[in-house]
Amino acid sequence: MHIAGFTPNSFVDYPDGIAAVVFVSGCNLDCWYCHNKGLIDSGAVYYEDDILKRIEKHKGMLDGVVITGGEPTLENTEELIVFINRIKAIGLKVKLDTNGTHPERLIKLLPYLDYVAMDVKAPFEKYNVFTRISDKEITAMKESVKLILENIDCEFRTTFAPPLIKEDILEIAASIRGCKHYYLQQYVPTEHCKETLAHPSSYLVETSNLLRSNGYPCEIRGI
Ligand code: SF4
Repeated sequence: MHIAGFTPNSFVDYPDGIAAVVFVSGCNLDCWYCHNKGLIDSGAVYYEDDILKRIEKHKGMLDGVVITGGEPTLENTEELIVFINRIKAIGLKVKLDTNGTHPERLIKLLPYLDYVAMDVKAPFEKYNVFTRISDKEITAMKESVKLILENIDCEFRTTFAPPLIKEDILEIAASIRGCKHYYLQQYVPTEHCKETLAHPSSYLVETSNLLRSNGYPCEIRGI
């Protein structure tokens, strides 16, 4: 495991619970608004055993552990399963965050996980506005959406960054129809993308309300 970051307790990363968050390095995408660019290139910084000891020490105050990144499915699948099982042996649930580009690995991981969160960054035909992406990866993401919806407790989420507009969000929602939790996340500019300003909060609320009025379980984060 290439563990590049660790948060001992977070109140916002596991649904209705407190979780430790393990960040792995490496990602196959290159989203321009990524907040973890430094972490992606940093390689392994922590020893797995040390992280597990810290999790065990604080297990009384934790509900689960989130494995995020970077892109966790780029880790060796067998090693990741061992890591997940070691967390479960401590008595904690495990959530995996993914960009969905590796359904062939995700399907092997699902039986060991309790929850999956997948980013859907744009309508699939507009993904290249946010990151370099191949047609093969787009097809893979569609497959991951189906796999996740059919097999596990899950959420999907979109960082509502310009140039995405309300109509794009409606299109994304249609592509994940059947999900129980869809989150619109407010985009926060970083040093490398500060010229792109966030949509007003009212626009997120308006979009979320429109989805909710059509029966979508849409909530907002970060405003
Ligand atoms: S998929 Fe996530 S971690 Fe990877 S570049 Fe995009 S925002 Fe960053």
